[in-house]
Amino acid sequence: MKLPHPVTTQFFSVQDVATAVHTLGLPTVFQRLADTIRADYLRWNDFEKCARVANHSKDGVIELMPISDAKTYSFKYVNGHPKNTQNGLPCVMAFGVLADVDTGIPEFLSELTLSTALRTAAMSVVAAQALARPNSRTMALIGNGAQSEFQALAFHYLMGVQELRLYDTDPRATEKLITNLGHTTLRLRLCSSVTEAVRGADIVTTVTADKTNATVLTPDMLEPGMHINGVGGDCPGKTELHPDVLRASAVFVEYEPQTRIEGDLQHLPADFAVTELWQVLAGQAAGRADAKQITLFDSVGFALQDYSVLRLMRDLAKELGLGQPVNLIPELVNPKDLFVLLQPESQPARTAPGVIKDIILA
Ligand code: NAD
Repeated sequence: MKLPHPVTTQFFSVQDVATAVHTLGLPTVFQRLADTIRADYLRWNDFEKCARVANHSKDGVIELMPISDAKTYSFKYVNGHPKNTQNGLPCVMAFGVLADVDTGIPEFLSELTLSTALRTAAMSVVAAQALARPNSRTMALIGNGAQSEFQALAFHYLMGVQELRLYDTDPRATEKLITNLGHTTLRLRLCSSVTEAVRGADIVTTVTADKTNATVLTPDMLEPGMHINGVGGDCPGKTELHPDVLRASAVFVEYEPQTRIEGDLQHLPADFAVTELWQVLAGQAAGRADAKQITLFDSVGFALQDYSVLRLMRDLAKELGLGQPVNLIPELVNPKDLFVLLQPESQPARTAPGVIKDIILA
């Protein structure tokens, strides 16, 4: 007997993401991700948007990030716990879903820890391609933790960055980064302070994690023409930039209502002018005014980037034959008879996926 409405959810694991990257190569994945993000940002007004919902605790935050267009709904679950790394856990962990708006079926369930690092770096490059000086070749990378290789390589492959100036308060993090980037042609310079790393850099990426209002970058470190890619200040009470760094810059954001709460922008008054990046990408607002202006992308991570990376991962699952179906939602012959699943004759053998359906059909 045929089910009236088959329900399948495709599961995409950490290993699937890694296999997709090995198969296509990181430069291709970054390029496709940047293209997907740009294409979705150009459809900005098609999306129903909201600031993410955050539950704060002493040492961290857990957030839900929903967004939808007429066809597809997505959400991401993500945390941020800077102290986690001291206990052998990542600071950021995530997963997410793409669902069909017409029926509500959760069609695609994916890991998003690795994918968030990929999408955050691709998003940073999309912003930098619109805002940094096009001949930018040197980047200071402040904070050399889990996100840092992704930022380094996305800027190397897509933006032509050739030299990285590295600084982290934890020298072991920088050592790890240097080991991981040893296979590339990037010139890596170990610096003993933020000031040293930033001096002469075209682009400054701050990607630190500390649940405090830090001032990793201060106005005296700024140089004309710099582009600042501020990634780590993404939560109330967790910032990286001195407020005068924002006052000295043209500031660009993902989704203004969210960045006013979470970004380094939280330190500035509500009437401090910022531009949403989509407007620059769509040609509706100016980006960099001239070669001397300082531009700042106050990134916090917006749900649209997660929608984009989920969309790309779903395409890659199909293209490369990756992922596997999971029984997330029951398949019912009579959709009003959910209780049948509790009848003894409906109980599946413990380990075999798909058995529930077979038993119902029998
Ligand atoms: P991580 O804990 O792996 O690494 C952070 C690094 O920052 C650590 O090595 C730590 O020693 C270093 N650090 C802390 N304070 C510093 C300081 N004052 N100067 C220099 N280095 C310092 O964390 P991660 O997973 O790499 O994430 C980094 C940050 O990026 C986090 O704050 C996270 O919330 C944020 N993040 C933002 C986005 C976004 O879309 N904007 C996405 C993902 C992560």
